[in-house]
Formats: sequence, C-alpha cells, structure tokens
Amino acid sequence: MRLSQILISTLRDDPADAEIPSHRLLARAGFVVKTAAGVYTYSPLMWRVVKKFAQIVREELDREGANEVMLPIIQPKELWVSSGRWDRYVTDGIMFTLKDRKGSEMCLGPTHEEVMTAFVDAQVNSYKQMPVNCYQIQDKFRDEIRPRFGLMRGREFLMMDAYSFDADQAGLDVAYRKMRDAYCRIFDRCGVEYTVVQADSGAIGGAGSEEFMVIADSGEDAILFCRASGYAANVEKATSRLPDAPAGGDARPMAKHATPDVRTVAQLEAFFPDWPAGRMAKTVLYRAVWKDREQLVAVMMRGDLEINEVKLTNALDALAVELATDERIEQATGAAVGFAGPVGLGDDVRLLADESLRGRSNLLTGCNETGFHCLDVNLGRDCRTPEFHDLRRARAGEGCPVSGEPLEEARGIEVGHIFKLGTKYSSAMGATFMDQGGKPQPFVMGCYGIGVSRTPAAAVEQHHDEKGIVWPVAIAPFACVVAMLDHKRNEQQELAARLYDELRSAGVDVCLDDRAMSPGAKFKDHELIGIPVQVFVGRKAGEGTVELLVRRGLAKQECAAGDVRAKVLAALGG
Ligand code: ATP
Ligand code: MG
Repeated sequence: MRLSQILISTLRDDPADAEIPSHRLLARAGFVVKTAAGVYTYSPLMWRVVKKFAQIVREELDREGANEVMLPIIQPKELWVSSGRWDRYVTDGIMFTLKDRKGSEMCLGPTHEEVMTAFVDAQVNSYKQMPVNCYQIQDKFRDEIRPRFGLMRGREFLMMDAYSFDADQAGLDVAYRKMRDAYCRIFDRCGVEYTVVQADSGAIGGAGSEEFMVIADSGEDAILFCRASGYAANVEKATSRLPDAPAGGDARPMAKHATPDVRTVAQLEAFFPDWPAGRMAKTVLYRAVWKDREQLVAVMMRGDLEINEVKLTNALDALAVELATDERIEQATGAAVGFAGPVGLGDDVRLLADESLRGRSNLLTGCNETGFHCLDVNLGRDCRTPEFHDLRRARAGEGCPVSGEPLEEARGIEVGHIFKLGTKYSSAMGATFMDQGGKPQPFVMGCYGIGVSRTPAAAVEQHHDEKGIVWPVAIAPFACVVAMLDHKRNEQQELAARLYDELRSAGVDVCLDDRAMSPGAKFKDHELIGIPVQVFVGRKAGEGTVELLVRRGLAKQECAAGDVRAKVLAALGG
C-alpha cells in the first residue's frame, strides 16, 4: 500500500480537549477525528488498527467454538420491557431512544442481552443443542454522562459482546473458563500488559465476574492487589482485613456532650483527644432509589473507614444511591449537617451499619441535635439495631484478605469483562429449553464484552513516548514502512520500491511512503504515527545503503539493502 494514496493528516498541535496521552496522540497523528462529543470517525490507519485487533478477537473466540453473528442496532422497546430493563436504562439516561413513524419506541443498542436471548430462544429447543456461544463485533450506543478521553469513553463505540447459553451451572462454568482463556490469549497477543481482577457483579450477585484491566495512570478504575497472594480486585468489589481499632470496653451509660461547630471526624478527634476515629461511628445519609420508590438511608461506618457506594447499592438492591442533600438531611435529622446519628433517628429513615461496627461498644456518634454529639452509644440499646452489611471501601495499605500483606493500589483501564449471568435474563424473558426429562428450563447464561475501540487506545496509553505512538506489532496499522526521503530521485524510488516488494513477498505487512514531504517532516511524521519498524531510503540509496529504525527506543542503524529483509524480520520478532 502506498501512503500517497491513503488519507493521512497529522496535526501540529494537540487538540484542546485531550487530557491523556492516547487521546492526544491518536488525534494528533490523525487516527481519529471527533464528529461530536464521544463520537469519532476512524481514519484509514485507525481502521486498520481496529480491524487487526478485531481479527485477533475473532480468531481466539472462534478457536473456542463461538459463532460470529450480527444483531440489529435498532431494538424495540418491548424486548427491553420483557427483561425489565427499559425503565432503568431510560432513567439512567444512558439509552439513546427514538420513535418510528408509527410512534413505536425503539433504542440504539447499548448492549444486546435481550436481542441475543430472544434469538437463541428461537433457535434452541433442547439441551442437546447446547452449549451455544454467539458473539458480534458492532457499534454500541450509550449516552455516557462524561464522554471523554477520546475512544476510551465514547457514546458510540465498538464492542465485542458474546453470550453463552448452557443447560446448567456446570456448563456455564466451562463456558466462562473458555472465554477467560480466550481473553488472556487476545490481550497477550495484542501486546498490552493487563491484570484480571474480581469485579462487582451488581445486584445479580453470584461468584463470577472478572474484569481485564490494562494498567495505566489515566485509568478510570482503581484496583487493589497483593503481590504475595495474587489477589486483585476492582475497588468497587475489593475487601481487606479490618484494620484494628481500640476496644470500647464494658457498656457505659450514654452521655450527650456539647460540640459546637464540631462536625467532621477530624474535628471530633481534635475536640476529644481520648476518642480516636476508630471509636467513632459516622452516620452518612443517602437517598436510595428503586424502580418504584425512594427512601432516605442512614449508613453508619467506623470513623476511620470509608463507605463503598457500590456495596451500599448492592446491599439495598437499589438502582442507585446518592448523598442526601443538606436540606433533606436537616429535615430528616432536625439538626444541621454534621450532627446526624442513630440515636432518635426517625423510623422513616432506614438504618444500615458496616460490619466493622458489629459488637462494638461505647461509640461516639452524632445525636441529631445541632451542636451535640453522644458519647458511649451502644447500638441496639440507645438506638435501633442497624442492618449490618459489608459496606466498607478497602484501601491500599490494609491487609490482603488472603495473605494479610499490605494491599497496593493501581489505576486500570477496563478493556474486557466476563460475567456469569445465570438465569436472570432467560427467566425474566421466558427463554427456555427442554431438559433431559422433557421439562422446560431457563437457559443458564454468561456474557462477555471487550472494548474493541477502547483497547487500541489503551495500548497507546501504555506504548508511547514523548515523540509519539509506539504501536505493538500485532495491532500496528502497518508492521513496517519503507520511506523514500526524496521522492523525486530515481535511485531512491527504485530501491524503496524493490525493498517494499521484497518485504511484501516475505509476508511483512509493509507500506511504501512515497509522499512528497521534506525528509525532516517525514521522520517526524513516522515518530508520531509509530509504525514499529521503519526503513528510510535516502542519500545513500545509490550505494545500496539505507537506514533502519526501530520505533521502540528509536534505535537507528545503517543497513545494506541486501540485509533489510532479514533485519526487518528479526526486528518484528520472527
Ligand atoms: P465502564 O465501567 O468502563 O463504563 P461497563 O462496565 O459499562 O464499562 P460493559 O458494559 O461490560 O462495560 O462493556 C464491555 C466493554 O466495553 C468494557 O469492558 C469496555 O472495554 C467497553 N466499553 C464500555 N463502555 C465504553 C465506552 N463508553 N466507550 C468505549 N468502550 C466502552
Ligand atoms: Mg459503562
């Protein structure tokens, strides 16, 4: 392929909205062009990258016996009503909805559990036809609250989504394991460094949900991990050994104490030097929302620990939780913000507490009166007994739940997610098969996603330097470029064309840069675009000498034309 025939347009400056290296570099090197917030056009070079990655995904999934299909982007509302998800997605605002000319409501698929379940239900009648695993690689549409970081969080983006259907849990376990293995091969092949972490599986619960994370400072997810045990989890899900706190001793009578203007744990510690945060219980009010109602929830947490809102949402089986407004806090507690507590709390407020408070005596809490706190509060004696749950956000430095060694924290980009769904969708939608005894049973399902446009961006996040992109060979737009520095000189043209043909015959994915540009500009362009191996044919072409540059590290060497093929193949690792 000749670069003079490919639309390439590198920019001099970074786009103003690019906050992270991959976004900055992909935009500046002309790989993506923004069409609207979170909506991008892929240039010819970017499309080559995406197609290469998609091909790796296809090969590895096909090896596990998965079937590639293509589902519709436009989906009828009825399907989403049948699974019970229409209201949630519309309320969340994540769904792009539209109406046809008859006024029927539809949506642009944010995900495809419903369509796939309906499809397989129509095709599969008996346990004998399983296992079944179908996948597609297609655009998804989500009206994300914060589309940003270029391809990382788009509103239209490419996803591989796969769905497995089995007759029982044992079948699902096998399907899940196969997909996990395929994912490892996919991310190994495309040259990104990743970790597999335990993930929150939402209100569905269950054991199996893992995310594939590319480690990068710009990652939107926080991960806690332990080198000693191999434990790794998304902070949304992570647990740790409970840090020690001084014991409260034998129950004493509760006492009210004036604490004017003392509201936070830090202020209380300063005010009561004998009461470390570990002996306090802070009370935080949330508004929890379910499908058809909402309620104020008071959450008690040991003063030195933090609340994990994902765990809270799951414990309540709510659609969402958010911090209550000051106004509602004042209304519910009858006190200014900063003095909420369990003592005398109205019955209309649900009371939850973290496991760290179970069995603890003589706590310091707010007492729902402006300017006062209560000392020596005993739960169940001085107030209702709260509902205890694990609501704690694990933190770096706390003990690993497996080894006890201190947990470390890293940032990660979620490039893939595998998930045991069980019968959630099949039961809701009445999607069944006949079991061995001739009885209808709901399909036991798994679902699996890979960010097909996000992963190449994540690869750039890991593989770049101050000059530009350093593509991993497997997903580079081309593995090698042969560039003539002065396109008007015959000997350069001829040698470049010869080397290009030779490399092509050797099976190298090579392009010929015959664009009319100054040598300096061409060098810079290729530093930015990041093709892994670059052969420059310049002034020494007449002597049969060229320059070979390996993009990673920018190591340059002169090379006899006759050695180019062998050296390029060696540099490409084969
Ligand atoms: P996130 O937590 O990042 O929003 P998600 O949990 O919503 O992701 P899934 O619904 O499991 O993601 O989607 C499967 C994969 O699709 C994700 O692992 C991710 O790689 C990719 N993905 C999800 N949302 C986006 C997006 N807005 N833009 C680009 N890729 C995305
Ligand atoms: Mg999301």
